[in-house]
Amino acid sequence: MFNPRRVIFEERALNYELGNSILEEFKDKKLEILYSKNGRITGIPGKTNSEMYFEGKSTLVVGVRKNLNFATCKPSAHYQLPIASGCNGMCEYCYLNTQMGKKPYVKIYVNIDEILQRTQEYIDERKPNITIFEGAATSDPIPVEYYSRSLKNSIEFFGNNELGRFRFVTKFTDIDTILGLRHNGNTTVRFSINTDRIINAYEHNTTAVIERITAAKKLYIDGYKIGFIIAPVFLYEGWEEEYGSLINLIALKFPRGNITFEVISHRFTKRAKENIINIFSKTTLPMDEEARKFKFGQFGYGKYIYPDEKMKLLKNFFKSKLLEKFEENSINYII
Ligand code: SF4
Repeated sequence: MFNPRRVIFEERALNYELGNSILEEFKDKKLEILYSKNGRITGIPGKTNSEMYFEGKSTLVVGVRKNLNFATCKPSAHYQLPIASGCNGMCEYCYLNTQMGKKPYVKIYVNIDEILQRTQEYIDERKPNITIFEGAATSDPIPVEYYSRSLKNSIEFFGNNELGRFRFVTKFTDIDTILGLRHNGNTTVRFSINTDRIINAYEHNTTAVIERITAAKKLYIDGYKIGFIIAPVFLYEGWEEEYGSLINLIALKFPRGNITFEVISHRFTKRAKENIINIFSKTTLPMDEEARKFKFGQFGYGKYIYPDEKMKLLKNFFKSKLLEKFEENSINYII
């Protein structure tokens, strides 16, 4: 659970019952409480890039989602479901690092009812097709769930919905508040995992992999659809043994279980690399362009991926290891 150092309330959030109950919750705690009249977020300290980053990551903003036009979310879903933005985790290779500005605060929205009303309109527009919504496109929603209850509301909304489906990704394990809900199998929870070595080195302020797998099992028993995203995969000395042990561990918990896997090799853009070095000046992330292959991306910028022969090794390894323990249709993709 996220324990912020400061909380900033947009004043309009206090027109909602949830906004007030969150304020009550924090009033008794020893932390800084600030208010924003116009929705502009100021008051987060920090002079250097690192300070701004760490202070931003320690700040919770409680606001109202005004823009109810949902962004598309291809290829994994049709739309993003905007229930939160930012994350208190500090993964060096986080996909949000280049999107959240210099002070990447975490924001939750108190108008979940309006957000879900809008969701229904999107579902109606695509009738009779199924419409899939992704709840973690701009955040990890689990650490703030204790405050926002947005996942609970969304999961129950989709549980009652014939044509809507919900999915989200997490690296956190505070999932007890979403156990026992009427989800009707309409929500898929995917856990992003890696080897202990990689998590300890680069995924600061997140949870141990064994805890993630244990949380996944609890949700699986509760009837949720479960997936694992093994990412980003690094080819370091001993990688086969360690990623192999990781898959063995999952197989122990989910013997021939009906779960899915996505495997994503490490890649980086020039911009992401600069950003990481600015914040984590002592990073040991392998980002040597010379050791990679440059691949043009669909959005006009290129990325550095492993060269072909290493990629082939990686794909062969994961395919055969996963098929040793799970069914063929459990592998969604390996890239
Ligand atoms: S847990 Fe996910 S969203 Fe949070 S910092 Fe890590 S990669 Fe980013």
